[in-house]
Amino acid sequence: MRITRLEPFILHVPVTGGAIADGSHQVGHWGAPGVRVHTDVGLVGTGYTGTHAHLATDRAIVDLIEHAYGPLLIGRDPRETQALWTTLHRHPPLQWVGRSGLLHLALAAVDVALWDLKAQAAGEPLWRLLGGSADEPLEAYDTDGGWLDRSDAHLVDEARARMDAGYRAVKIKIGSPDPGRDLRRIESVRAALPEGARLMVDVNGAWDLVTALRVGRHLADFDVAWLEEPIWYDDVAGHAELARALATPIALGEQLYTLDAFRDFLAAGAVHYVQADAVRLGGVTEWWQVADLAFAHRKPVVPHIGDMMQVHVHLAIAHPACALLEHIPWMRDCFVEPATVEDGRFVPPERPGAGTALRDGALEAYDVRR
Ligand code: MG
Repeated sequence: MRITRLEPFILHVPVTGGAIADGSHQVGHWGAPGVRVHTDVGLVGTGYTGTHAHLATDRAIVDLIEHAYGPLLIGRDPRETQALWTTLHRHPPLQWVGRSGLLHLALAAVDVALWDLKAQAAGEPLWRLLGGSADEPLEAYDTDGGWLDRSDAHLVDEARARMDAGYRAVKIKIGSPDPGRDLRRIESVRAALPEGARLMVDVNGAWDLVTALRVGRHLADFDVAWLEEPIWYDDVAGHAELARALATPIALGEQLYTLDAFRDFLAAGAVHYVQADAVRLGGVTEWWQVADLAFAHRKPVVPHIGDMMQVHVHLAIAHPACALLEHIPWMRDCFVEPATVEDGRFVPPERPGAGTALRDGALEAYDVRR
């Protein structure tokens, strides 16, 4: 099998309710700049990264895929995923300007497409190719009912609705200018949840260390399962200090690009829940390295939702560090086999591939370059 052609795309898909906010961002659309990788045997692999649908940077990502990586990919066997990853990552002029940022997001999209092809060629869903079993349930937790710009009553209603649908865990966004508002909302949602249900909170990097130390102390009163991204994403020492000072575990990783970054956080004892994201890391290849590293530290991996669950369902079913995955269904309408939750658990996908295949009409509906 040989790669014959790259077909870039940029999907911009509306989010729930037309707009959402967290402690640091406001988003109206989710962006999925990516690529379909065509082969001489007729198989087509699909991969993409996740963005805030910023057109100029999305264009830059697909330009990098097409023009920086394209010449290194055409004619190669897409099943040689590790060798190709190393080729793309270490190509001297690209290594000079890359290793994180836009070029790494482009690498993620390409790598996912290659793993999609590899699983299709094997005739298996990716989770089975990676050694997973459908008999081991993958629990879902919901984030889409807990945005920072929604009312207190909305959060409580959404949490109750998720419990009625079979979920046993929800996450809400905090990081309001008034921390008192955050604590009131946590108290309200906790009171609405049944005994044993898990509640997580996510600051999206909005606090400084002093605020995190001061407000974070109160979270144990509400049995918060984890405090996510309390401070600046790259601050290893700050998160390590918080992890030592607070009774509530620290979760992070959705903003980290590299295996090296995760090594630093794990070595410093700065993270308890490892939220590796295959579409910010360099795809499936680097995600698996991070998950193995976390497993060696006996830390659970709970993948971030940057891929809107498609690849991550496969990875989380297969990797022994994973038992829980985030749920935000913004891109459901794009896929042949969208990730699906029933009774609080993800349904194991059945189609060969990585779950990224776009349905007929998805490009016509959402590709902003058309
Ligand atoms: Mg988050």
